[in-house]
This record gives sequence, C-alpha cells and structure tokens, in this order.
Amino acid sequence: TLLNFSGLRALVTGQGKMGIGWDTMKALHASGARVVAVSHTSADLVSLSKEGPGVEPVSVDLGDWEAMEQALCDVGPVDVLVNNAAMALLQPFLETTKEAFDTGVRWGQGAPSLGLQIVARGMISHGVPGSSVNVSSMAAHVTLPNLAAYICEGGVCAPAETAPPAPRPQIRVNSVNPTVVLTAMGQEASSDPQFARKLKERHPLRQFAKAEDVVNSILFLLSDRSASTSGSGIFVDAGYLAS
Ligand code: NDP
Repeated sequence: TLLNFSGLRALVTGQGKMGIGWDTMKALHASGARVVAVSHTSADLVSLSKEGPGVEPVSVDLGDWEAMEQALCDVGPVDVLVNNAAMALLQPFLETTKEAFDTGVRWGQGAPSLGLQIVARGMISHGVPGSSVNVSSMAAHVTLPNLAAYICEGGVCAPAETAPPAPRPQIRVNSVNPTVVLTAMGQEASSDPQFARKLKERHPLRQFAKAEDVVNSILFLLSDRSASTSGSGIFVDAGYLAS
C-alpha cells in the first residue's frame, strides 16, 4: 500500500522554485496531508495558493531568524517537518568570502535547528509524536569544487552525527543526502558541461538523482515505515560515496 499521511499536518520549507521542496509538498498533499508551504518569494505564493485547500502558503525570509520564529510559531502544531530551504553560494575555496561562510553556517546549522526546535516544542506541548527530515547533501561527506561554504550545511544537516538530538524519544530526526538534482540550484552547480559530464561519470549508476527519488526517501523517513530509524539518513547519490 502507498504511504498515507491522512489526518497529518506537514510543514515544508523552500518549495517556491519547483525544486525538491515543491515535489515533496505535492507528494505529501497527494498522500493525504495538509501542507504548510513556507516560501520566501511572495510571488510564488500565487502558484502555491492554486494548489487547493490542503495547501497553506506562508511567506517568510528564513534567513531572518526573528521572522522565522514568528512565522513558524504562528503556524501552530504540525506532525511532520521537512527542512528543505537552502542557499548554495558557489565560490572557489580561495575566494570564498566571510559572508558566504556565515551564510553557510546560518543555512546549514541555524535554520534547520531553529525550525526543528520550534516545531518540536509544539509537538511536545501537544503530546504528539513527530518526524523531521533535513534535506542535506552528499557534500556532507565528500568535497566538491566551489562548495566550501556549502559544506557547512552538509556537515550539520546530516543528523546522524551532528543534528540536534531528538528532543523526545517520540520525535525522529533524519536526513536525505542527495547528489546533484537538476533543479535551479543543481543546474547552477553543474553548469559547466565538462565538469557535469565528468562528475556524472564518477557515479556508479552514471546518473544524477531525480527529485522524485529524493522525495520518495523523504516520505519514507517521515512515515511510520521508518518507525525505528532516527539520527540517520539515506544517501540518494547514485552510488557516489561508494565510488
Ligand atoms: P531550489 O533552488 O529549487 O529551492 C531552494 C528553495 O529554498 C527555494 O524555494 C528558495 O525560495 C528557498 N529559499 C532560499 N532562501 C530562502 C530564504 N531566505 N527564506 C526562505 N526560503 C528560502 O533548490 P533545490 O530544490 O535544489 O534544493 C532543495 C534542498 O536540496 C536544499 O536544501 C539543497 O541544499 C538540497 N540539495 C540540492 C541538490 C541539488 O543538486 N539541487 C543536491 C543536494 C542537496 P526563494 O527562491 O523564494 O528564495
């Protein structure tokens, strides 16, 4: 049987740009969840509001922690959380700016941790079990060019070792760690065709990941099918780490 999220309320961040977050929102909605869609660019709320009654768009700059706290508190209780929004600043290591390192730490550590903290408080006060997935990256475990500031995200988003421990036993925290997915962000990161070809060839499966494959792993980790999995993660990396 298919995964069923009927009766549950999900919060997904960063789905405005039709990337992994968008597909996750659609899949959760199709599986019966009501979805709070936290997006940055307010113009994207128009397409989100067309998704129908089960989707509740919220516009907030998640780089602004006060605004984020306010917005997520206003949202009220949710059962599952997907920390997906992020920025990847692409800069060669020797030229990586201090601002980029700050941004990397903010997105990699601060935003997902604060998001989880706020949501976990709500789960605890309502006495409901919950599940959270951080969309991390295989870059948590391997070095890739121009991603010095992004590695911060990977390292901290990989909850197996470093994400905040589950605040209560009934709140599970996991990650997915994809290789390149050809979203807006993925296309920018692999825009040099020669680099992209060589990188793809290094994957044992000779492919990048499809957003759908990432979404399937996210939904599995959010669902009761992974009831005994916490502080762990799934690589959606076409075998890259094993190469
Ligand atoms: P997209 O660029 O498609 O989407 C990123 C989303 O994050 C956008 O909706 C964007 O909204 C949102 N976002 C960025 N800044 C803010 C902000 N200040 N406040 C609120 N939202 C914000 O990215 P992907 O779908 O590719 O990436 C999703 C996740 O997957 C990220 O965590 C990324 O690190 C991870 N990942 C992606 C890979 C890839 O190759 N694509 C590979 C490995 C991991 P807006 O445009 O409105 O600012």
